[in-house]
Amino acid sequence: MDRSSEIRFAAEMTLGKLSKWLRILGFDTVYAANLAGEKLIDTARDRILLTRTKRIRNMKIAKERIFITSNCPSEQLREVVLALSITKEDIRPFSRCIQCNASIRFVEKNTVRGKVPDYIWESQDTFYTCSHCRRIYWSGSHIRRSRDIIHRLFT
Ligand SMILES: [Zn+2]
Repeated sequence: MDRSSEIRFAAEMTLGKLSKWLRILGFDTVYAANLAGEKLIDTARDRILLTRTKRIRNMKIAKERIFITSNCPSEQLREVVLALSITKEDIRPFSRCIQCNASIRFVEKNTVRGKVPDYIWESQDTFYTCSHCRRIYWSGSHIRRSRDIIHRLFT
C-alpha cells in the first residue's frame, strides 16, 4: 500500500536536519525555526508530531507523536522509520523541495539555461524545479550520496 501521502509530519524547531531528511524521502514535513509549543501542536492538527520536548511527549493531546531521543540526524531518521514501520515502498525520494516542502517537478532543460551554472547545464540532462520557491534541482553528486544513505536506512 502506498503510504507516502498519508504519512505527514510536523517537526519542532530542534529537528531541522531530520526535517530535511524526511523531505528528501518525500514526506510532507512542516518545519519552521519559530514553530514551538502551542503553535506547533496546532500546526500538527492532522500530522504526526515529531518532538524532543518531554512536556509535549507527556501532554494529553489526541495526536500521534513520536518522541525523538537521539541527537544524531541519521539516528533520528531511523527512529521515525522504525516507529511507523516505514518501508522502501512508502518513500518517494527527491519528489519534494528540501527548502520549502512543496513538490518538485520535471522541467525542460532549455528552460533552466542561465539559471544554473553553465558547467551544470552542460553536464546534466534532467532538471526539476520547485512549484513554490522555484529552486532548481538536478541529479548531482549530493543525490547519489543521499541514495546511498537511503539504501543503508532500509537494509
Ligand atoms: Zn521550494
